[in-house]
Amino acid sequence: MQKIIRTRAEAADFAASVRFSGKTMGFVPTMGALHEGHLSLVRKALQENDYCVTSIFVNPIQFNNREDLEKYPRTPERDLQMLEEAGCQAVFMPSVDEMYPEEVNEHYDFGHLDKVMEGAFRPGHFNGVAIVVKRLFEIIQPHKAYFGEKDYQQLAIIRELVRRYQIPVKIVACPIVREDDGLAMSSRNMRLSAEDRRKAPQIYQTLLTARQLAKEHDVAFVKNWVLETLKSIEGFEPEYFEIASGETLLPVNHWDEADTVMGFVVVWLGGVRLIDNIELRRK
Ligand code: AMP
Repeated sequence: MQKIIRTRAEAADFAASVRFSGKTMGFVPTMGALHEGHLSLVRKALQENDYCVTSIFVNPIQFNNREDLEKYPRTPERDLQMLEEAGCQAVFMPSVDEMYPEEVNEHYDFGHLDKVMEGAFRPGHFNGVAIVVKRLFEIIQPHKAYFGEKDYQQLAIIRELVRRYQIPVKIVACPIVREDDGLAMSSRNMRLSAEDRRKAPQIYQTLLTARQLAKEHDVAFVKNWVLETLKSIEGFEPEYFEIASGETLLPVNHWDEADTVMGFVVVWLGGVRLIDNIELRRK
């Protein structure tokens, strides 16, 4: 039976007992409404550690849009069942008051990392992410923590957080898990209408074509082509498409400016914000 933990004190006790027994612990932070993408992180954590702790916490301070927070899917019973079946031994499900008993006024600045793309379009988002992840790391003190490349920029910020505050945890990146039709799995996909769900895979199809075009065309051409293609699909409202270094996340003007050049996209579809990315070129 998996252990369900609701308080910070209990979580810290559980983590201490695991460490004291000489076992290793992998940690998977999530906001619930779990799918195979989340479970791939859990499975990786269980492959590499004796224990896996998953947290389920819809972190209010990382939402810059009230409606997005209110409509964020919540399926706790199903989540617990999926985690049990995956073999995750403990689930930390704190309340908002438990995580934030006092007013929060920490401010993180990750230089350009939190100013571009998601940082620019979701003001305050990464500050909220950094606050919650740092607190979770302090409570659970995992040996390793698992994050998806779907939130590529988040991963870069977490790595920087760990480096800057010398938090003794190893960050493990996990590849994007997709539906059979290519749509990146996301808790928000549940909110798509049937018709929008049928259209949504065109995001990834456009990225795949962009990768082909990147073999023969320059950066400006590919960027323009992707934006125009996405705009031409009915119901699609692209928020941004950036071609940037996979290392620094800064935009590039030429393919040879970075070892790995990535394409990063956000599309609004029927009021749902969908995010995806792809490696376009590698040196
Ligand atoms: P979330 O619940 O959306 O905050 O996501 C929790 C973790 O799961 C984050 O590290 C995400 O990057 C990761 N994740 C979400 N969707 C996917 C996916 N389709 N493939 C891989 N990882 C994912």
